[in-house]
Amino acid sequence: MNTSNPFFRPSLHPTEDASQHRYIHVVGSKVFIDDRPADTEWNCLFLGMHGDTACWGIDVPKGEDPAYGADYDLRSLYGMVSEAEWAMAGRAVQLVEWSRTHRFCGRCGTQTRMADNDRAFVCPSCALMSFPRLAPAIITLVTRGEGDDEQALLARGAQFPVPMFSCLAGFVEAGENLEQAVVREVEEEVGLAVESVQYVGSQPWPFPHSIMLGFRARWVSGDIVCDPAEIAEAHWYSRDDLPMIPPGISIARRLIDDWVFRRYQ
Ligand SMILES: [Zn+2]
Repeated sequence: MNTSNPFFRPSLHPTEDASQHRYIHVVGSKVFIDDRPADTEWNCLFLGMHGDTACWGIDVPKGEDPAYGADYDLRSLYGMVSEAEWAMAGRAVQLVEWSRTHRFCGRCGTQTRMADNDRAFVCPSCALMSFPRLAPAIITLVTRGEGDDEQALLARGAQFPVPMFSCLAGFVEAGENLEQAVVREVEEEVGLAVESVQYVGSQPWPFPHSIMLGFRARWVSGDIVCDPAEIAEAHWYSRDDLPMIPPGISIARRLIDDWVFRRYQ
């Protein structure tokens, strides 16, 4: 779980003391991390600093894949590299994909260019600026009861490929704050009213360009009624009787573990 990146700092330009370089080659949506630069013709985006190492994302053109030997999607890369490198790879995939899809102005169709002092594409004709997309999503562990009788609500998403149970999650809508998004999502997905919404922590979630904001909330009223488009089934679980839960990569797992091990109230 990536709670902090003490060693990776996103930025627009390398610092003057940069003494080494690291290259994240982005092939489709897969990555290959290397000390070697790529073909100089290829689009190269600065990502940030990792200590005194300047990190770059390289857009490997379609059909040009060199014989890397091993490239990985972000999920399988987790655990194989350091937390900082994984954060870096996530940023590389997001920025490269953003640069691939913003080559022309969305308003007037003119070819864009990279802005000088912002992480943005700018239109030379109408000056429209396009920034990298970042979609905030909330994820919530709902609990009810007290002490040893306390239970948590876990749900199996209709889209989950495996019979895994997790917290409820959804995107924040334009015009609402995070707490309102938590209350709305829980009501929409399982028909329950909640209160005491408390922020716990966050995690970059580059699938494809989100940030997960983790919350706890307390059940107030209602019986579970699942929205079948989103949720296959949802139940209340005790700490000693949990179903299959998500792996360590996700903030969902941290929310569940914190509750199971009573790390906070
Ligand atoms: Zn324009």
